[in-house]
Amino acid sequence: MNLESIIKERFDKSVGDCTNEELYYALLEMTKEMAKEKVSGKGKKKLYYISAEFLIGKLLSNNLINLGIYDDVKELLEKNGKDLNEIETIEPEPSLGNGGLGRLAACFLDSIATLGLHGDGIGLNYHYGLFRQIFENNLQKETPNPWIEKESWLTKTDKVYEVPFGGFSLKSRMYDIDVTGYDSRTTKLHLFDVETVDESIVSGGIDFDKEDIAKNLTLFLYPDDSDENGQLLRIYQQYFMVSSGARLILDEAEERGCNLHDLADYATIQINDTHPTMVIPELIRLLLERGILMDEAIAIVSKTCAYTNHTILAEALEKWPVRYLEKVVPQLMPIIYELNNRVKKKYTDQTVFIIDESSRVHMAHIDIHYGYSVNGVAYLHTEILKNSELNNFYRIYPEKFNNKTNGITFRRWLLHCNRKLADLVEELIGEGFKKDAMELEKLAAFAEDAAVLERLVNVKWDCKLRLKNYLKQTQGIELNENSIFDIQIKRLHEYKRQQMNALYIIHKYFEIKEGKKPTTPITVIFGAKAAPAYIIAKDIIHLILCLQQLIDNDPDVSPYLKVVMVENYNVTLAEKLIPAADIHEQISLASKEASGTSNMKFMLNGAVALGTMDGANVEIAELVGEDNIYIFGESSDAVIEHYEKADYVSKDYYEKDKDIQRAVDFIVSDEMLKIGREENLTRLYNELLKKDWFMTLLDFKSYAEEKEKALKEYEDRGKWAKKMLINISKAGFFSSDRTIAQYNDEVWKL
Ligand SMILES: *Cc1c(COP(=O)(O)O)cnc(C)c1O
Repeated sequence: MNLESIIKERFDKSVGDCTNEELYYALLEMTKEMAKEKVSGKGKKKLYYISAEFLIGKLLSNNLINLGIYDDVKELLEKNGKDLNEIETIEPEPSLGNGGLGRLAACFLDSIATLGLHGDGIGLNYHYGLFRQIFENNLQKETPNPWIEKESWLTKTDKVYEVPFGGFSLKSRMYDIDVTGYDSRTTKLHLFDVETVDESIVSGGIDFDKEDIAKNLTLFLYPDDSDENGQLLRIYQQYFMVSSGARLILDEAEERGCNLHDLADYATIQINDTHPTMVIPELIRLLLERGILMDEAIAIVSKTCAYTNHTILAEALEKWPVRYLEKVVPQLMPIIYELNNRVKKKYTDQTVFIIDESSRVHMAHIDIHYGYSVNGVAYLHTEILKNSELNNFYRIYPEKFNNKTNGITFRRWLLHCNRKLADLVEELIGEGFKKDAMELEKLAAFAEDAAVLERLVNVKWDCKLRLKNYLKQTQGIELNENSIFDIQIKRLHEYKRQQMNALYIIHKYFEIKEGKKPTTPITVIFGAKAAPAYIIAKDIIHLILCLQQLIDNDPDVSPYLKVVMVENYNVTLAEKLIPAADIHEQISLASKEASGTSNMKFMLNGAVALGTMDGANVEIAELVGEDNIYIFGESSDAVIEHYEKADYVSKDYYEKDKDIQRAVDFIVSDEMLKIGREENLTRLYNELLKKDWFMTLLDFKSYAEEKEKALKEYEDRGKWAKKMLINISKAGFFSSDRTIAQYNDEVWKL
C-alpha cells in the first residue's frame, strides 16, 4: 500500500494535512492501481453477463475490503485524525441501475471474481442513471443523477466500434470498471458509451430531445417509453449495447484461438432479462458477415446464449413493434423473420411465435427458442414459469428450464455494511463464513446463550443509532432508536403493495386515537423510487408522504407511530437501513415477486420477515421455520386462480370489513385533503375500490393480524433475539457465491 507516496506526489502533503476530498482521490487512485494488478479468471471459455443495469453501489470500501487492506487504511487514517466513513461520503454512487435485477448483476460480478471464474459484465455507461428522486409538496420529482467526475472508477479504453443504425451510425467507446472479488481477484465491467453524448440537452428535470440519438443515447437508464420516440430510444440503447458487446465477444474469442465455428467452446452469454435479447440476431448477423451460413450461424448462437427471466408481469416482457425495429435496426429484421419462420414451420401453437398477429416481436420468445437455457430466479418463480406463464414453451423444451435462486454478496451486505455484526459472528464461529457462507449455521449453537443474544441485540441497537444519526445528518429526519424499525425498501410497484403497509398505518393511527397504544413505539420506514410515468405508483408515494406529515403533526399519535419515507433510495441508503431493521416487509401479491433479494440482505442482518409466500420468501420460510418468520395472505395458487376466474372484486372486501372501509375512506378524508392533492388521493382511492389489480384488500385482514402478532412477540426481547440469530444462521444458502457456482456447474460450464 502506497497511499502516503501517492499523496506526497499528488498534493505534496502528509495524510494529516489533506482534506477528505484529497484523501478520497488518493484512495481512488491507489485502489484502481491495486485492482489492476489482480488477476482475472483465465481459461478457454469465458462468460459474458450482459445487462441493461448494474446497480454496483459505491466501490471504495468494498474494494478496500476485497483487497484486504480496509483495516490498514482505516488505521493509517485514524492515526492522522481522519475518518474513513467521512471520506466515503465524498464518493458519488454510480447511477448504473434501478432495482433488484441490477443489484443482482452487481452481486454476481463480485462472486464471479471471488470464485476466480473467467467472466466479465457488459452494459451501458449511463451519465444520469435512472433519476435522482426529490420530494416537493409531498410529491416525487425527478432530476438527473450525475456521478461521472473527472476522476472516477471508469477507465477509458481504446476499444472503439462503429455501431450501425437505420440511416446513420454512432461511434461506441468502451470504459472499464474493475470489480474486485474477495481475496485477490477481479472481473471487469465493460460499459459502452457514445462518443457524442451531450449532457447539456437535459433541462427542466429530466426532459430532453428524445430524437437526438447521437446526444441522448447514454444519458438515462430506462428513459420514459410512454410514447413512440421513447420506445425507439430504448431500442437504440439496447442495440448499441449488444452490438458493441457482440463485437467485443467475437474479438476476444478470436484472440484466444476461436475459429467462430467453435464459438460455444469460447464464450457463453447470460442474457439478464429481455433487454439484451438482440444480441442473438446480432451475433447471427456478424457470423453471416464472416462467411458462416445461416443454419450453422443459428446453431452456434443457440449454443452460446442463455436467458434469465426475472418477472411474469406482462408489462416487463418486451414486445417491440416490427415497424420500430425496421426503423432502428433494419439489418436485424431479415434474421428475425428467418428465426420466426423456422418457429412457424415447426410449431402450430401461435403463442410461441416470435412475431404475433399485431406485428410485435416478443423478445423473450427469441431467447427461449434460440438460447440453450432458461432460468427463473427462485424455486416458486421457476415453478410458475414451467407450469403456467411459460408452460407452452416448457412443453416444447423441458430440458432448457432450470432454477437459480438469487443470492447476495456477503462482502457488501454483511462485512461492509455491518462490521459490528461481522465481528461478533467471527468471534463466535471463526472467519470461515467469509469464504463459505454455510458456516453461518454454526451460530445455531448459541440460540439459547443469553449473553450472546444480548450482544446481538446491542449490535442491532448500535445500527439503529447509526441510521438515526445518518438520516438526521443527510435528510434532517428524526428517529427514535428505541422504537421498532419496520422497513419496506424496494422499487415502488402496485404488486409490491406499499399501499397495504400504508393502509395498515392508517388502521394503527385510528387504534391509537382510540387509546390502543403500542407497547413499544413503531417507526415505519419506506424507501422507493417510482417510474416517472407510473401514475398510481407516484400517488402511493404521495399518500405515504401525506401520512408522514399528518402523523408528525398529531401529538396524540406521534409518540407511538412514525412514518418516514427516505429520499432517493439507493444502495448507499440500503447499506444503512438494512442493518437497522427489526421487521422487514416482503408483502407482494403471491406469485408476482420473482425472488426478491432485499429479503436475503435483511435476514443476514438479523431482521425478521413479515411477508407472503412469494419469491424467495418461500425458501427463507422453509429454512428458518415458522417460528422465525411471519407469513400471511393467500397462496400463489389461490391468486393465480383468482386471475383465471376473474372473481376478485375489491369492493366486496371493502363492504364486508369495517376496518378496511375506515382505512380506505381515510385516503380521501378532510384531514388528508387538507395536506394532500385531491386529484392524486381520489385516483388512488378509486383504484383501490374499483380495480385493485394486485389484490391489496384481499390480504389486508390477514396482514394486519400477522403484523400484530409480530409486534406482540417483539416485546419478549430474548425470544426475539433468538429469531434474529436463527435468521442469520440460515442465511448462508443465499450467498451469491452459491448461486454463481450453480450457474457455472449447470449452465456455463466454464
Ligand atoms: C437489494 C436492492 C433492491 C432489491 O430489493 P427487493 O426488495 O428485492 O426488490 C433494490 N434496490 C436496492 C438499492 C437494493 O440494494
